[in-house]
Amino acid sequence: MTGWTLGIETTAHTFSFGLIDADGLPYPSASDILRPDKGGIHPREAADHHKDVAASLFTKALDSQNLKPSDISAIAYSQGPGLGPCLRVGAAVARGLATRMEVPLIGVNHCVAHIEIGRQQCGCDDPVLLYVSGGNTQVIARLNGRYRVLGETLDIGIGNMLDKFARNQGIPFPGGPKIEQLALQYLEREPHPTMEGLQLPYAVRGMDLTFSGLLTAAQRLIDNGAPLDAVCWSLQEHAFASCVEVAERAMAHTGKSELLLGGGVACNQRIRTMCEEMAEDREGRSFAPPKMYCIDNGTMIGLLGWLELKKRNTSLEQSAIDQYLRTDQTPIVWS
Ligand code: AMP
Ligand code: MG
Repeated sequence: MTGWTLGIETTAHTFSFGLIDADGLPYPSASDILRPDKGGIHPREAADHHKDVAASLFTKALDSQNLKPSDISAIAYSQGPGLGPCLRVGAAVARGLATRMEVPLIGVNHCVAHIEIGRQQCGCDDPVLLYVSGGNTQVIARLNGRYRVLGETLDIGIGNMLDKFARNQGIPFPGGPKIEQLALQYLEREPHPTMEGLQLPYAVRGMDLTFSGLLTAAQRLIDNGAPLDAVCWSLQEHAFASCVEVAERAMAHTGKSELLLGGGVACNQRIRTMCEEMAEDREGRSFAPPKMYCIDNGTMIGLLGWLELKKRNTSLEQSAIDQYLRTDQTPIVWS
């Protein structure tokens, strides 16, 4: 590749353009996140948001590296999984730009992009990935040329669970960072906390996870008068411990010694620390990329596009989105 690869991310609430240079080096994304005043994300409203911000963000992204449109030599976009109306906006922008600029187009797997930006940023080789985001919660490992999902949520994503709990307490989206703050606040006034009166169901089912029971039970604690900061602490401890338990079992089963965090919830310092402690106990290592590459971002899409374009590209006929694209549907054709 001689020029720059432009990555386009639109799987959910975020519209983001990111840039990868000719050598595969990533540059920070230009992003805009829909933050609804109340309620969750409505896919159509998010798609409208994405249409509204696309043109100005495109200019912002190019200006950030002093580029002209002619410096772009490939367009990568999230082909799935995600919300249909949101994905369609990204795919339409990608097709339009690729056709107009006469450059190759490549549709990539959003979940796999989280893994590859993490590997690139952290310098790890063959990790078990704990992917904890708004809509997704998966434990993934590479096996026979694909990233295989070894365990995942059976109901809602961990981030959606945190956001919903927060929303019920009047905390606007995204609720995860505020829950983290409240949990820290609780630890300041209660440096030696116990779970007494704050127990929640522990939601591991074999290698899979569930979070909706946790959400209901946490709300019940609030309804019964438990302090919000205490419940936030307990909610984090329970939800994160269940993810770390499945990740540890995945490391044991696969014999891998590296753990890599990805997804927006990986911004949370508590889950980072829990992963580090677990990995150290196993004489392994846990890694987490910078926060700007944990949340959804166009740069990771550009990076996976840059990697895959050495082997394939996407024709206009193949460029339809796939809301339900699975992590293991994407053959790993790069190293
Ligand atoms: P993503 O879907 O990967 O873009 O990530 C968005 C999700 O990450 C939302 O559910 C946020 O609430 C969550 N999130 C972001 N920062 C934090 C944090 N510090 N702690 C917990 N969750 C977070
Ligand atoms: Mg994501």
